[in-house]
Amino acid sequence: MSVKTRFAPSPTGYLHVGGARTALYSWLHAKANDGEFVLRIEDTDLERSTPEAVEAILDGMRWLQLDWNEGPIYQTHRFDRYKEVIQQLVDEEKAYPCFCSRERLDELRETQMNNKQKPRYDGKCRGLSLSEMDLSRDHVIRFKNPVEGNVTFKDVVKGEVTFANSELDDLIIARTDGSPTYNFTVVVDDWDMGITQVVRGDDHLNNTPRQINIFASLGAKAPEFGHVPMILGDDGKKLSKRHGAVSVMQYRDDGYLPQAVLNYLVRLGWSHGDQEVFSVSEMIELFDINHINKAPSAFNTTKLNWLNQQYIKNLPVDELMPHLNWHLQQAGLNINDGPAIEALIPEFAERVQTLKDLVEIIRPYYSDFDAFEEKAAKKHLRPVAKEPLERVNQKLTALTEWRPDSIHKAINDAAEELSVGMGKVGMPLRVAVTGAGMSPSLDITLEWVGRDRTLARIQKALAYIQDRVEGS
Ligand code: GLU
Repeated sequence: MSVKTRFAPSPTGYLHVGGARTALYSWLHAKANDGEFVLRIEDTDLERSTPEAVEAILDGMRWLQLDWNEGPIYQTHRFDRYKEVIQQLVDEEKAYPCFCSRERLDELRETQMNNKQKPRYDGKCRGLSLSEMDLSRDHVIRFKNPVEGNVTFKDVVKGEVTFANSELDDLIIARTDGSPTYNFTVVVDDWDMGITQVVRGDDHLNNTPRQINIFASLGAKAPEFGHVPMILGDDGKKLSKRHGAVSVMQYRDDGYLPQAVLNYLVRLGWSHGDQEVFSVSEMIELFDINHINKAPSAFNTTKLNWLNQQYIKNLPVDELMPHLNWHLQQAGLNINDGPAIEALIPEFAERVQTLKDLVEIIRPYYSDFDAFEEKAAKKHLRPVAKEPLERVNQKLTALTEWRPDSIHKAINDAAEELSVGMGKVGMPLRVAVTGAGMSPSLDITLEWVGRDRTLARIQKALAYIQDRVEGS
């Protein structure tokens, strides 16, 4: 049978890293087997589902480039189908109307709790015959779960798992208003869509035996299940907002590349030897659903940062640019007004871990800055720097060609004429021109900043020194 997987988020919030990881594993399993991947929006909880959350999830999937062959399929569009199957189960006496009142169920629960029993429905309405029923009264529909025996399945991640049917009660599959419930809609969908493998968080493990029983009652083959352990924060607690960004789109905003995030997520619970860096095509080639780790993994921002830097350094420029452009735009930086960005990227990629930082570090080459970095200015734009700056200004102004070799010579000449070391000219010049104490070699830096901007900034630095003198 050809492989078909799905990602089935409930649109009650953004796409978080845990969801993105199960989506990635399902997507990879489909891709690795020339199969198909379905995106299904589980929006039957009308109170908690929002169109904004649907958009946020779709945005996250698109940003990660986890494309789907079918969907998005909305469960709210499939109510007729669910009703039809519920009716079928009732007709076949595999499900039944239950008229028990909330009060009765609450009381039952309380008694069971007091007796230290697991709260469960006691099956009062299970045996009612049609003649004993008044269907005009409020009722739910319950699934007749087998009372005896076990449900055993081989979880792709956890191995063999067994639940006793005596632990499971008759689950409500349709509410009083007729709307179907989660465990039921999932089964009908996975069945109708021909899903072969389900990868999901292990918070769903307890639902699986119930779902397997429903599959069986429909005469349908259940898919294989793989329940992945949760992601922990670096403090060992369940990953949550407290640990920083957990929304996938927040990672975009913070300057991460989708390739790096995917690479990070695939390793968070799966490995192939000790390889750390995987391109998407390598992931597709090497991913094996049977090698997902059983143990929970902890989120490690340092590692994500390292990976992000690898991708910034090594991605071909045409793959990097769409993402960098987005950040340039956010930062209001126009790169048409400055040097070719392809030249700057390799020079600065070594020094940054995010695209956001990359934009900031290249800013002086494309736009004027408001202020010199305080520490660098305090150290290097002092009265002693006035003469070297004036001299180098003269030399640079006199240049007929703005090229690294001529710029280098101008700086050298200024230092020689003043009988000082290169640093005495170079450092004030660097801070004057870039605003900061660190940059690539000065000849290249000045070439990139350009003649007009360089000369104007030297004047600004001289004015700054003057202000210091007058202020002191
Ligand atoms: N809609 C469920 C959730 O978001 C997932 C159900 C499933 O994958 O079976 O938790």
